[in-house]
Amino acid sequence: MGGAAASAHPGVRLTGVLELPARLERLTGAARERADRLYEVRLVSGHTVPPPELEPWLVTTFGSVEAVRDQVVLKVTNRVTLEAVLFAPLRSRRPVDGPERARDLAGEVAATEGDPFCHPETGTPADTFGRVRGARVISWANAGLADAHHAVLVFDAHDPLAFDAETVSDLLRSGREWAERAHREDPEAVNYLLIWNCLWRAGSSIIHGHAQALLGSGSHYAAIERLRRDVAGYDGDLLEELIAVHRSVGLTVDLAGDVVLVAHLTPRKERELLLIGRPGMEETDQSFADALARTLIAYRDRIGVSSFNLALWRPPLANAQGWEAFPPMVRLVDRGDPFVRPSDIGAMELYGTPIVGSDPYDLIEALR
Ligand SMILES: [Zn+2]
Repeated sequence: MGGAAASAHPGVRLTGVLELPARLERLTGAARERADRLYEVRLVSGHTVPPPELEPWLVTTFGSVEAVRDQVVLKVTNRVTLEAVLFAPLRSRRPVDGPERARDLAGEVAATEGDPFCHPETGTPADTFGRVRGARVISWANAGLADAHHAVLVFDAHDPLAFDAETVSDLLRSGREWAERAHREDPEAVNYLLIWNCLWRAGSSIIHGHAQALLGSGSHYAAIERLRRDVAGYDGDLLEELIAVHRSVGLTVDLAGDVVLVAHLTPRKERELLLIGRPGMEETDQSFADALARTLIAYRDRIGVSSFNLALWRPPLANAQGWEAFPPMVRLVDRGDPFVRPSDIGAMELYGTPIVGSDPYDLIEALR
């Protein structure tokens, strides 16, 4: 633990994630040691000197002059994976330039109805082994391949936010079925990755609800391989300890079937969640599928997220020596308001440390 105690930040009310250093200080014994081994946490202060002319605008924009005059930023680093974040609460309130636009998401979605994804049999290419047809999802080969095996999994509903629990479990089943079929055709291709970019803000070029599946050979997709190496090189069970630290500071929800929902202490961007199963579990197991469906529906309905990135990380389908401690896990991140012009990803996210304005405690409270 680096950083200072709350008393070093007079005038700043420490709530939510800004209370993390105090929560960690209250831990004792093995819980404290675990947290210190895994995370570097620093609460730092910054001060600005606003001119009187600016004060009314500061009050309107940030709530008070004091909120801008004395600020704190919480810096969290996972010492093992080097995932890190700057929690900067004021960032979510900063003004955004750009034209006023209609914010009619339902209208924008409806305007693209009748697209090729609405009639996939004739509007899209098939894989050499045909199409996977689930109850809610049909697969086809991505017209622009990103790997030797790359499918689009299109939902029967045009509206990408019209999913329900059956859509989610059918997506997991159909994606896996596609991967198994592609693997049978190409035994060297074992690294299965399921991704879902929801709406343009998350990088999706087509509005119609769809996910994608990839099956690669060689090393697993880089971010997954990175975690595998970190798990393999750690003296202990890295993922178990990561869950335990989050649990000790109140950032987990235990779901049925030993699936754990985690509001991540080092989120890649706003409101990142990890859904972690047990080692040996399949992502198609009903308890994992149910947990994911519950999480996604709450993300949409309780948090109000409309644009998100999701990835399913799991061990290779075959030749998985060294992956024994690796459970299926889903990472899920909010990409923000589809009608805001600036990208949420800037130079800090690409080449520095991600800056996050949302609070993981607000997130986990809304998902209990
Ligand atoms: Zn459509």
